[in-house]
Amino acid sequence: MTKSTHIAVIGAGAFGSWTAFLLLRQGIRVTLIDSWGPGNSRSSSGGDTRVLRAGYGEQLHYVELVARSMRLWLDWEKNWNCKLFHPMGLLRMYVEDDSPMRACLPTLKKFNFTVDTLSVGEASKKFKQVNFDGIKHIYFEKDAGYLLARRSCQVVVKEFIDGGGHYLQSVAKPGIISNGECEGLELSNGSRIIADKYLFACGPWLGQIFPDWLDSLIRPTRQEVHYFGPPAGDLSFQEGVMPIWSELGEKTYYGIPGNENRGFKVALDKPGPNFDPTNDDRIPSTEGIADARSLLTRRFPKIGNPPLLEARVCQYENSPDANLIIDLHPEASNLWVVGGGSGHGFKMGPAIGEYLVARLLEQPPIINAPIGKIFSIDRFQGPIDFLSTGAIT
Ligand SMILES: Cc1cc2nc3c(=O)[nH]c(=O)nc-3n(C[C@H](O)[C@H](O)[C@H](O)COP(=O)(O)OP(=O)(O)OC[C@H]3O[C@@H](n4cnc5c(N)ncnc54)[C@H](O)[C@@H]3O)c2cc1C
Repeated sequence: MTKSTHIAVIGAGAFGSWTAFLLLRQGIRVTLIDSWGPGNSRSSSGGDTRVLRAGYGEQLHYVELVARSMRLWLDWEKNWNCKLFHPMGLLRMYVEDDSPMRACLPTLKKFNFTVDTLSVGEASKKFKQVNFDGIKHIYFEKDAGYLLARRSCQVVVKEFIDGGGHYLQSVAKPGIISNGECEGLELSNGSRIIADKYLFACGPWLGQIFPDWLDSLIRPTRQEVHYFGPPAGDLSFQEGVMPIWSELGEKTYYGIPGNENRGFKVALDKPGPNFDPTNDDRIPSTEGIADARSLLTRRFPKIGNPPLLEARVCQYENSPDANLIIDLHPEASNLWVVGGGSGHGFKMGPAIGEYLVARLLEQPPIINAPIGKIFSIDRFQGPIDFLSTGAIT
């Protein structure tokens, strides 16, 4: 690769924005294209906040990715003088089986993440706003926190543009593939872009863009997020007092105390029905609100009967096994794809961006975990079946 190499990145969500920014830092000429803008409300990276946590059950490769990402989030937010990561810890409440977390503990320690194991008595004293009835195992992931989602994408793209990157708002589709290479991009304004390499980071749209290749491997599903209003003057459900929390049982719920006083966020982490990210309406359902409210009443009775302040409908872009997908097009040696964040990818934007820079520029990757193999499409052999549970916990 030379300084005159031109790389086009399509999609300015968590993965595309970071990759474009980090490629530019390597002196590469980069064009970044997005249909509706970074962190737009249709994208999977839209909305307010995302959890950054390192506990990843038996999927130990993510611990290293999160460790590297956390370093990059912290370094870059310092560089840019803006706060994107809000550390506050994650309270994990297991209704039954905590073996995934136990399996992860040695690796978490290896990467310097601190996890406290709490008895129900200890947790009840520390977190008086939580009802621990029915909870068997409790862990507190001290280094976890939340990231600003939409805002981060906007900041990364602004820094990309300020650094000399070329950003375009347009719809891009791959042009003809001939002689083993993609010959260019066709844009919705009728123009073409010719680059040396192309990275499609189009989240839930990847299946539509590559119907023969990815349609059976990326399934966008409808997800609801609810924000409830705590009692006036009550600080116990706010950032600084209440950490991020998750209840892991037959169903997994999680929540984040109110960023910018928006309310107490509650969401169910389980892939919902299929969803069209371009055309479907995003209207929260009565059933979804009732389900979130029943979790609140059971787990946080001191919040009373709070009003729903806001809700939003987003989509996961699931891969069959909830692992990311990073690969080269089978017929074009200059066309890469990244996606399949499956409800847990956001936090890894910087480390995945850095990994993609290494792959695109044919440099050795910084990550030791064999993610090239783990995230390759070759892993799907035989009939494709999607997990019905939520993000890898
Ligand atoms: C409700 C919800 C909760 C989540 N919680 C967490 C969490 O707590 N922690 C976590 O780490 N992750 C979480 N995730 C997952 C995470 O947000 C996603 O994995 C991640 O944001 C996906 O980013 P992406 O860049 O792949 O896709 P997107 O953000 O969807 O970006 C793709 C971009 O491509 C653009 N695009 C598409 N097609 C084209 C085209 N043809 N031409 C030009 N542009 C195009 C779109 O406009 C879009 O901006 C959650 C996701 C959801 C929906």
